[in-house]
Amino acid sequence: MIGDGMGLAHSYAAYLYNGDSLVMFTMPYTAFAITSCADRKVTDSGAGGTAIATGHKTNYGCIGMDDKGNARISLLEIAKRAGKSTAMVCTSSITHATPASFVAHVSDRDLQDSIALAYLSGNVDVVLGGGRDNFMPDKRKDGLNVADSLKEKGYAIVTDMNELDEVKSDRIVGLFAENHLEPFAKRGNFMEKSMTKALDVVSDNEEGFFMMVEGSKIDMESHDNRYERMMDELLDFDACVRIALDFARKDGHTLVVVVADHETGGLALKSKDKGTECEWTSDDHTAIPVPVYAYGPGSEQFRGVIQNTDIFWKIYNLMIK
Ligand SMILES: [Zn+2]
Repeated sequence: MIGDGMGLAHSYAAYLYNGDSLVMFTMPYTAFAITSCADRKVTDSGAGGTAIATGHKTNYGCIGMDDKGNARISLLEIAKRAGKSTAMVCTSSITHATPASFVAHVSDRDLQDSIALAYLSGNVDVVLGGGRDNFMPDKRKDGLNVADSLKEKGYAIVTDMNELDEVKSDRIVGLFAENHLEPFAKRGNFMEKSMTKALDVVSDNEEGFFMMVEGSKIDMESHDNRYERMMDELLDFDACVRIALDFARKDGHTLVVVVADHETGGLALKSKDKGTECEWTSDDHTAIPVPVYAYGPGSEQFRGVIQNTDIFWKIYNLMIK
């Protein structure tokens, strides 16, 4: 589970805002991850996502390849090859940098049309987010109908949240916005509904599953220095952490890891009266290491100050035995 741009100050601000309560703060093991990428101290979501997805530090803006340009296999692709089911849920376009890092291998995160084609690999069973424009012939530069090609491969294409419950297919591509989803205040419980549906589908597989859930807009609101909207996004993401932990507690075999790809906004919590006041020190990403929270089998391995790439290796070693 990736809170995009979610630094410790973001989470603690949401904890205070939420009446001294945050689900991720109840997870028993914590670490700090260094987020620098191959060519910069301050990373982006492409290189940050790629480090977590593939275990390789890469250059700023790259997706699913190392700093020499070699394609690197992701946790999601590894899980699929091992016979597991796979899913992704995000509030951004599903071709945006973080989800892209788990399915695509391109030198530039802005190659959104190319990233959409990566879903034809069939490595993702269920993906729910935005980004419809990159799948439609009238919006793509090459005029390809990627949505139809996905249907031919057996995917149900869903564009209306009201239809999601009724879909019986175990392969679903949900495209619920032309680009990114609306802010939390407008989209409502999209994240919780999508995560519940995705879990329901992929947890049927006796070989297990790999799921990536991204609170994509924590980062976007932080770029815009919008304090309350950022906290809405973070608490929406935290509600998904609750769903994951409830599932993992019942299941007993599921590892839940909550990470961030980098911090966004240089958020500071200053003293005001007897409480705190938020102050953004940047409208961009920063270099500060980010917290990692873990629960479940192997979670005790997530401790100390680690590299973002170590998150890949720990999950890989626990998932593939
Ligand atoms: Zn990011």
